[in-house]
Amino acid sequence: SPVPDYLADVLDAVRSIDDGAPADYIEVLANADTSRLAVALATVDGEVYAAGDSDVAFSIQSISKPFAYAAAIEDVGLDAVLARIGVEPSGDAFNELSLEDGTHRPMNPMINAGALATHALVAGPEASGPQRVERLRALMSAMAGRELGYDEAVYEAELRDAHRNRGLAHMLRAGGIIDAEPETIVDGYVRQCAVDVTVRDLALMAATLANAGVQPLTGRQVIDRAGVRQVLSVMTTCGMYDAAGDWVSNVGIPAKSGVAGGIIGALPGQLGLAVFSPKLDAHGNSARGVAVCERLSRDMGLHMMDVS
Ligand code: GLU
Repeated sequence: SPVPDYLADVLDAVRSIDDGAPADYIEVLANADTSRLAVALATVDGEVYAAGDSDVAFSIQSISKPFAYAAAIEDVGLDAVLARIGVEPSGDAFNELSLEDGTHRPMNPMINAGALATHALVAGPEASGPQRVERLRALMSAMAGRELGYDEAVYEAELRDAHRNRGLAHMLRAGGIIDAEPETIVDGYVRQCAVDVTVRDLALMAATLANAGVQPLTGRQVIDRAGVRQVLSVMTTCGMYDAAGDWVSNVGIPAKSGVAGGIIGALPGQLGLAVFSPKLDAHGNSARGVAVCERLSRDMGLHMMDVS
């Protein structure tokens, strides 16, 4: 297949981009090897292609948010999720306490306030902290097609430093958006963000979304198809921090990025893609990762608004 060579060429074309800086709020991320660069594609019929550092693992971070949202929808139903978390882009930074007037719902599940509220719904109202955490690890593993573990150093560093997320969780508890103990929710959310993945894992996870919840290699329906449309919709409007509009118009693929430098894209009915490079642009998205996705979208005609 010519695809691996093509992907390697795309990586070579963006390697000279040296803008941005790795996330620096914890030392393990600040010390990331910034030369790392990887891409993977997984089609809905199970072809997987990769280039660059595609076996290097990194913490999933905010890319876990759409998967937690999918789990919450399956576990408590969409109406119960919508009663607590909205679907409007906030336009604010991901770690702002962006709540809707009147309802006090976090604006959407892709900002931290909404992701904490989402985490609290996973595995249903009776679930314990460890049950929520394991539900998410097991779901993400089923989507990746292998058992995923944790980056313990990231987990520990984040937990030590999670003052802002603790603040958000307490405000959500005070507003009646979460019922559980805020500290348990923060701990579980930090675990969720510390799941260790490669671009190959992420491409298959994204391809599972693109394939209406069916994992392309195992053929298993790992998440309810009804929720997938909701997840992809919110990724489209809210997935790329405060650069979502720019992303949708340039790249045109439902996506989510994370602070460790990963980005996923899920093009319904076609493919999942994932890129990784640690230096982030001013919006918090991987600078080289965005450039790779722009090229793939252009070269392969992936923009969802293109009329063929
Ligand atoms: N664990 C990080 C936080 O909540 C994730 C941030 C991100 O990837 O956007 O601050």
